[in-house]
Amino acid sequence: MALHAATAARGHAPDDDVITATALVKTYRQGTADVRALDGVTVGVRRARFTAVVGPSGSGKSTLMHCAAGLDTVTSGSVVLDGTELTGLSDRRLTRVRRKRIGFVFQSFNLLPQLTAYENIVLPVSLSGGRPDRELVDHLCEVLGIAHRLAHRPAELSGGQQQRVAVARALVARPAVVFADEPTGNLDSRSGAEVLGMLRRSVDDLGQTVVMVTHDPEAARYADRVLTLADGRVVGDEHLTPSAGPAVLAPGAPGRRR
Ligand code: ADP
Repeated sequence: MALHAATAARGHAPDDDVITATALVKTYRQGTADVRALDGVTVGVRRARFTAVVGPSGSGKSTLMHCAAGLDTVTSGSVVLDGTELTGLSDRRLTRVRRKRIGFVFQSFNLLPQLTAYENIVLPVSLSGGRPDRELVDHLCEVLGIAHRLAHRPAELSGGQQQRVAVARALVARPAVVFADEPTGNLDSRSGAEVLGMLRRSVDDLGQTVVMVTHDPEAARYADRVLTLADGRVVGDEHLTPSAGPAVLAPGAPGRRR
């Protein structure tokens, strides 16, 4: 299956920005005071790259992710995601953007407990009226080591397996961006490394764009680029040679080697 061709067929230049945030400000009311969670963030995120957002607790990482993913509104400034200006969109249109163009991986997995692993994986595609690419689903599940667990419900899976189901769910719709929010926060170090390796491979082999919020410097080493926030501002922007993942994700195609 030609996943690289499918990505190229969307007609994007290989190095354009999939997210452009400009002068983002987000204030929250806390009691009688306003807290400036984002204090004028301007940043672009390239396609097919793995970007980590790091910084101390309270620095604005989650707020930036929520605003960039259309989960929260901004106080001022603009976010363009995959060519769509999110600022000012109705809730209905934001939901559509999230369903069609964004995949999420959360710290707490967020799988639906009453559905099997397979049903969880194909849910976003089904919800947006599409049909899952069975070959891609099978291949991802094989590589992620969950092919034999697909009929099980989340409660019957280990944490690492649940997070790998969540990674498969995020990838099957081939979203413009996968946002991962502390994806290893509830995992032991071995399962965490596996999940990070899979996110890395999704970038190298599938051309996926991944943005990951983490407080863990080890996790950030899998990224191509590390943005550091402090007090709601970008205070660091470092380009890395990332750690490689353990497996090749593109069906029938060798991974791009660094
Ligand atoms: P991080 O993810 O880096 O820990 P956050 O984005 O969660 O930081 O928070 C940034 C700042 O915004 C903090 O001071 C936090 O207390 C505040 N904040 C975040 N969400 C809310 C909210 N829903 N209501 C009020 N204040 C908030």
